[in-house]
Amino acid sequence: MILYNEDQDLSLEPYGIQIPVRSSKTTRTFEALLAHPILGPLAERWHRRPETGLISKADLLRVHDPHYVERLFSKGLEQELMKTFELVDEKGHYHRYAPDLAELPLSRLFKRILDTASGTWQCCRLALDHGFCFFFGGGMHHAQRSEGRGFCVVNDVVVSLRKLQAEGAIETAWVIDVDAHKGDGTAALTSGDDSIRTLSLHMARGWPLDEPEYDEQGRLNPSFVPSDIDVPVAQGEEDRYLEKLQAGLHELEAFARPDLALVVSGADPFELDELESARELKLTLEQLLERDRLIYRFLKERGLPRAYVMAGGYGSETWRVYAGFLEWALLDGNGPNGSR
Ligand SMILES: [Zn+2]
Repeated sequence: MILYNEDQDLSLEPYGIQIPVRSSKTTRTFEALLAHPILGPLAERWHRRPETGLISKADLLRVHDPHYVERLFSKGLEQELMKTFELVDEKGHYHRYAPDLAELPLSRLFKRILDTASGTWQCCRLALDHGFCFFFGGGMHHAQRSEGRGFCVVNDVVVSLRKLQAEGAIETAWVIDVDAHKGDGTAALTSGDDSIRTLSLHMARGWPLDEPEYDEQGRLNPSFVPSDIDVPVAQGEEDRYLEKLQAGLHELEAFARPDLALVVSGADPFELDELESARELKLTLEQLLERDRLIYRFLKERGLPRAYVMAGGYGSETWRVYAGFLEWALLDGNGPNGSR
């Protein structure tokens, strides 16, 4: 099942933000699936459009600090967005930001972010009902309790899981995060809570792990709070990536079987990704497809509902990673004997 709103553009350009999130990340992925000789005619079976407005302030408050949430719903919003999307550099100059070119006010972005969180929650619901769902958005895994970080204003991953727990839909979950950057917000927000187990496979160096581990007051930078299982991959270790992933998944099995698995399926480890801060990991398309098949099979063989979010993936080629995996995964459910 694919959860995708064709009217929802992922690009940040309408807000004057020049981070290379391209519309093609979703549009070309969807086009490739529609053009597939078997999947195309069955689109009604595997495509759903998300609803919006399903994540409330109360849902955010289960995860985020009340003062921070208040700022997001007040005049402080713009400043939080500027900071989270890193739109001003240390010298006070605009960075990857051209407000003159904006078609929409920056504050309008917040509604889109909340709609994204709605989509992640619905994706989990659909996965619980149907076994597999992939949402064309989400994965804002860097958002911390009291601040947005790394283009992530709210942590839709933890917000959705906490909502599902509050609703009694699940008690436990695994988060498997294979974005190039560590799933640091998710790790910090679920630290010490055995009901959500986290596995993050990420670049050993670079953002967010290139910051000081402690601040001047001696407080731990939340990006350094460990996941239950952290698997750092050093530059040049790409040929060991799949082996490391397998070992990480094996370690995850030591924890009790969860009610749901949420995969933060970033495409930014791709060698053709265009984000500067993801350059230390350069997997080929074939390695990424193998990564995605490995995780999918691992979860399916254990009978676990599988919800996926897109997370990072920058530039004009990133759609190939999603399209390649989804053709394969949807054929698994919609082939001649499929039921999903
Ligand atoms: Zn990333």
